Amino acid sequence: MPASRRPLIAGNWKMNGLKASAGELAAIAEGYDAALRARIDLLVCPPATLLAGFSAQVAGAALMLGGQDCHPMASGAHTGDISAEMLKDAGAGAVIVGHSERRADHGEGDAVVMAKAKAAWRAGLLAIVCVGESLQEREAGEAAPVVTRQVRQSIPEGAAAANLVVAYEPIWAIGTGRTPTVADVAQIHGTIRRVLGERFGAEGAGIRILYGGSVKPDNAATLLATADVDGALVGGASLKAADFLAIARAV
Ligand code: PGA
Repeated sequence: MPASRRPLIAGNWKMNGLKASAGELAAIAEGYDAALRARIDLLVCPPATLLAGFSAQVAGAALMLGGQDCHPMASGAHTGDISAEMLKDAGAGAVIVGHSERRADHGEGDAVVMAKAKAAWRAGLLAIVCVGESLQEREAGEAAPVVTRQVRQSIPEGAAAANLVVAYEPIWAIGTGRTPTVADVAQIHGTIRRVLGERFGAEGAGIRILYGGSVKPDNAATLLATADVDGALVGGASLKAADFLAIARAV
């Protein structure tokens, strides 16, 4: 990976975590020591309810915090929704948009995901745009076309290394313990890299592409050593500081 693409290990806590999880966050922040800070970026995306408290807890530390979703608008009559500006205000530096669980549970299509990525930028947040095929699409040989479409239609114009990260998460690998082969990961990451280049020229070469889906301490080194894999988006294994840090150290 070019020197400009600094590896990123991102933890997605999903709908897990209470105030009592502060201990886990403290362990992650402590484990993100000088040796690790010199090599990689580390991000934890807890539930929005914990952001402000966590932000105060790790104030001054290099560990970055992020949201898991945002509304396209900055404010307004949208009961229960949270804007990118609110996440930023609570201490986030990044936000995940277009996670397959949002796409599936909330019917979010590419256009909505693109609007959310734009909202992230409006608020000054790094947008982590998730893409990935279903098992049915994979078995029909459509993984690459599906991901190509998502990269074309979910990522706004103006994407750059400083404002965008793409996360490739095959839906069938999320939370299942199954992962694609290294060859399959390399193929899709290569496809994403090519589409980013087509769309954003030289800037596309600097945009980080994370792999996500059942990343664990025991498979992290292999996945992270794969061509065009610039880091990982970690779900289940990010809830335990020891596992999350083991994955980070596997870079
Ligand atoms: P998992 O989730 O690591 O638990 O498979 C990954 C994700 O959904 O981001």
